[in-house]
Amino acid sequence: MIGAPPRSRLDRVLSDRLAAQDGRGLRRRLRTLDAGPAPSTTIDGRPIIQLASNDYLGLATHPAVTRAAAEAAAAAGAGAGSARLIAGSTAAHADLEAALAALKHTDAAVLFSSGYHANIGVLPALMGPADAIFSDALNHASLIDGCRLSRAAIHVYRHADVDHLDALMAASPPAAQRAIVTETLFGMDGDLAPLESIVEVARRRDAWVIVDEAHATGVFGPRGGGLVEHTGLAGEVDVQIGTLSKALGALGGFVAGSQALIDWLINAARPFVYTTALPPPVVAAARVAVDLVINGPERRARLWSHAERLRDGLSGAGFRLGPSVSPILPLLVGDTARAMRMSGIMLERGVLIPAIRPPTVPDGTARLRIAPMATHAQADLDAALGAIVGAARDTGVLP
Ligand code: PMP
Repeated sequence: MIGAPPRSRLDRVLSDRLAAQDGRGLRRRLRTLDAGPAPSTTIDGRPIIQLASNDYLGLATHPAVTRAAAEAAAAAGAGAGSARLIAGSTAAHADLEAALAALKHTDAAVLFSSGYHANIGVLPALMGPADAIFSDALNHASLIDGCRLSRAAIHVYRHADVDHLDALMAASPPAAQRAIVTETLFGMDGDLAPLESIVEVARRRDAWVIVDEAHATGVFGPRGGGLVEHTGLAGEVDVQIGTLSKALGALGGFVAGSQALIDWLINAARPFVYTTALPPPVVAAARVAVDLVINGPERRARLWSHAERLRDGLSGAGFRLGPSVSPILPLLVGDTARAMRMSGIMLERGVLIPAIRPPTVPDGTARLRIAPMATHAQADLDAALGAIVGAARDTGVLP
């Protein structure tokens, strides 16, 4: 009889590592949804109100978006077949890039496979070992990885603290080129970079400004162009990074800026050069979504009014809501185990709000990240509020 195969040394080492993560409450496991798209998800056949998606405007399931994807798949295929620089570049890619440049008020834009790829592409393409990057302490992992891959000197300034940024720039050794890198709307905190002040420091200290608008695109700005549009600073920001994967409801990343920047990235950004072009259905879906973002202020307004309803309900119930000024509402719990318990109780009661734990957020700042969508019904929000307050009382987060 053949028994279970002996565990390899690799498996033994990994089991120990996983057990250590388990012990610290930091092991991650996949949660399988029956039907993907938010907000009306089911898990094991049970309906779940989901407040966990970055599809803020609900465009992933908009009929015009899904129809465009289906038609593109039928006409052009499921995959692009090769990299953009080989035979993967189509009129549809160029058209989407032109639409994104218009959304971002820039001369040009270039697509990447994801926002993550954009960030690990653009930073090493622009910055090198002789250069220095000044990076917000709460920047997303993909920006951190992009900074590391560039091999530039990295100076981390306190979150959104321009005085600290300025002091670090004054004190740091000379560099061939300097750049300031920040998210605009911080995805786990819902607060904003002080963009006007950052631009002022950059101008005074001769640094490039590189911003990641992953969460702000579609959410801020009169046409959904992001915080750069909202603040009228498109002419002052050198590099605008975005994703198609959140408010645009599809998948992919992009960089918008001058024609010279885009021409350089096409030559120098390795995650652009050495990977397959975005597939036709994704490109077609995102193209329709860009128009819906620009021409759909009522969707943005609904998202914001949903967020205000939740914010009012939560602060009325006694929660401290932190610095969020956006539809991303982090409920700070602090202790990881307690945040996990609270999330688990809410799920039993039909509401999916994940606990966000270290290392995604700093130690001791575990939180529930509440993300409404324009497509939630008001009754969903009221039911979710009830579940949040109940779970908070059950776990001692609220008295
Ligand atoms: N930047 C930020 C600020 C993000 O939050 C994320 C995704 N969570 C990304 C980039 C990566 O985008 P994508 O999901 O398209 O890879």
